[in-house]
Amino acid sequence: MYIILFGAPGVGKGTQAKKISKDYGIPQISTGDMLREAVRGKTELGKKAEAIMNRGELVPDELMLNLIRERISRPDCAKGLILDGFPRTTPQAEELSELMGEMQLPPFTCIEITVPNEKIINRLSSRMTCSQCGKDYNPAIHQIPADMKCTKCGGTIITRSDDNAETIQKRLNVYNEQTAPVKYFYKDKGRFFSIDGDRDVMEVYTSISEILGGIA
Ligand code: AMP
Repeated sequence: MYIILFGAPGVGKGTQAKKISKDYGIPQISTGDMLREAVRGKTELGKKAEAIMNRGELVPDELMLNLIRERISRPDCAKGLILDGFPRTTPQAEELSELMGEMQLPPFTCIEITVPNEKIINRLSSRMTCSQCGKDYNPAIHQIPADMKCTKCGGTIITRSDDNAETIQKRLNVYNEQTAPVKYFYKDKGRFFSIDGDRDVMEVYTSISEILGGIA
């Protein structure tokens, strides 16, 4: 199954994508995580992306498409995958659809997770993240380890450089202007679902599993 988890920053796409990945045995592809890895590794892409990400803007479509094309052609994507953070513009959605056709893979189903804006701002301003595996720690529901080491991989838990008040607002504006319209691309194709993300993580996951059961 080929799934897009769609929604504003902080709605829980990463948390849910990791659960689906584990339970269904398909990879989670987070373009944000891939870019952060490129920034850490000081690759050409990382050097181009770093300042853009810190401003809360979008990395150009062409760079993103090269990244996603290379990733989707790897063998672990042959039976399905979950996209988290891609596509973020309508041209990205159109090119992704063409790429799937070229590779003779089935079309994506888009699942939107919605959370009210003020709750998103609260979540992002307090969120901490493993700098190595991307696991999110929300102090309201998780005990943050005293040694700041990730319980999953041992990486260091940090506050992401774009999780500050100014950049959070910018990212939400960018989402509303450039990313939210992407949903019409999938609605027009009859491959769009929307669920309430302002609930307990397991309740949200149950809603996603029901949708996945219907399209499997
Ligand atoms: P995320 O971890 O998904 O919140 O992404 C962090 C940042 O990476 C975003 O604010 C963008 O600057 C960049 N980014 C991630 N995915 C994309 C994408 N599909 N298109 C453009 N920029 C992206």
